[in-house]
Amino acid sequence: MALNNEGSNSIMVEAQLLEKYAELVLVKGINVQKEQAVVVSAPIEGADFARMLAKKAYELGAKNVHINWGDDELAKLKYEHASDEVIESYPDWQVQMMESFAEDGAAFVSIHATDPDLLQSIDSERVAAASKAAGVALKTFREYTMNDKVTWTVISIPTVAWAKKIFPEQAAEQAVESLWDEIIKMVRVDQEDPIGAWDAHNDLLEKAYKRLNDKQYIALHLKAPGTDLEIGLPKNHIWQGGAAVSEQGVVFNPNLPTEEVFTAPHKYKVNGTVSSTKPLNYGGNLIDEFQLTFKDGKVVDYKANQGEAVLKHLLEADEGASRIGEVALVPDESPVSQSGHIFYNTLFDENASCHIALGKAYPTNVKDGAEMNEAALDEHGVNDSMIHVDFMVGSVEMDIDGVLPDGTEEAVFRKGTWAFK
Ligand code: ZN
Ligand code: ZN
Repeated sequence: MALNNEGSNSIMVEAQLLEKYAELVLVKGINVQKEQAVVVSAPIEGADFARMLAKKAYELGAKNVHINWGDDELAKLKYEHASDEVIESYPDWQVQMMESFAEDGAAFVSIHATDPDLLQSIDSERVAAASKAAGVALKTFREYTMNDKVTWTVISIPTVAWAKKIFPEQAAEQAVESLWDEIIKMVRVDQEDPIGAWDAHNDLLEKAYKRLNDKQYIALHLKAPGTDLEIGLPKNHIWQGGAAVSEQGVVFNPNLPTEEVFTAPHKYKVNGTVSSTKPLNYGGNLIDEFQLTFKDGKVVDYKANQGEAVLKHLLEADEGASRIGEVALVPDESPVSQSGHIFYNTLFDENASCHIALGKAYPTNVKDGAEMNEAALDEHGVNDSMIHVDFMVGSVEMDIDGVLPDGTEEAVFRKGTWAFK
């Protein structure tokens, strides 16, 4: 599952489709309630869409809509010019703002649309220092989202730079339009009744995760070219997918789109080697064609054809960054996979392919996990970190076996899709 921030756009697709999308985000994404505050993190390039979201949120009864504007260009200027002291700190007032909205039970929409190459020219040490500072500062806030104490959703809209990365041969306007077309399809807004389509899709995901929950595999065995990895699963692990339920009992969709069912791996029981199958856009830098080797849950060896230094910083971000906190299964029939594009944006790419995440696990992926303290979570094998970075390992060549509690193995995935009938 993808976690948090950034992005942009210009309105060229039909206004009616955009209105349907905005409604989907508010009704199925955060499921906004009467008298609730809504916080939207939006790229400045997407001002029109952000305003449309705000208007609809008020119409649906929101008491206040606050927009956190983000701007790739300004972010880059800061990296180029600000002192180390500024880069290595995160403003208190921003932390307090997010925490106070969360305490008030606000809902959070994060529009994710960063230029994948934005920070290519910036020293990766500086980028790592800034994300570390944000990670530490936002620890308390992150617990609200990762434990579903509030409702939240991550979505995307096109920005010129991002769209040009996917459609380099097209002029800026055309590229943005092409990306809108793809997003509209992937979030099912091209369908007559997107909200009904999401209800049906959530039901399918629920069927898949319920079957896995009944199985209670003790491990999954992933096999593909360059991959032979055994992922132990914690006792009483819980598979989830599609809709989630907040502490207040509000049903919401944390990611739009989402095609995965996922659970927490056992942080001390991962062994073998795994190879990436798509590039990873991490904080404005690409890591590509990389391989990680695990022993007893920890990465003991790694290499990358592109972005190895960035990967090194990522793995060294903190103690938990070199262990995994998620394993997710996505069949190759997913509309994101079928689009045939690489989006350089985790929200989409992770929904095209089986993936695992370095860093923090969702405590809700083990029974009673949301109520456990750090020591209890560790004892149950649930990883902690200030990072959570998904990367893609699935392909049509991937087979996955599940190891039952009695040690026998059975097929879960064959050739990139469900082996279950
Ligand atoms: Zn995931
Ligand atoms: Zn994830």
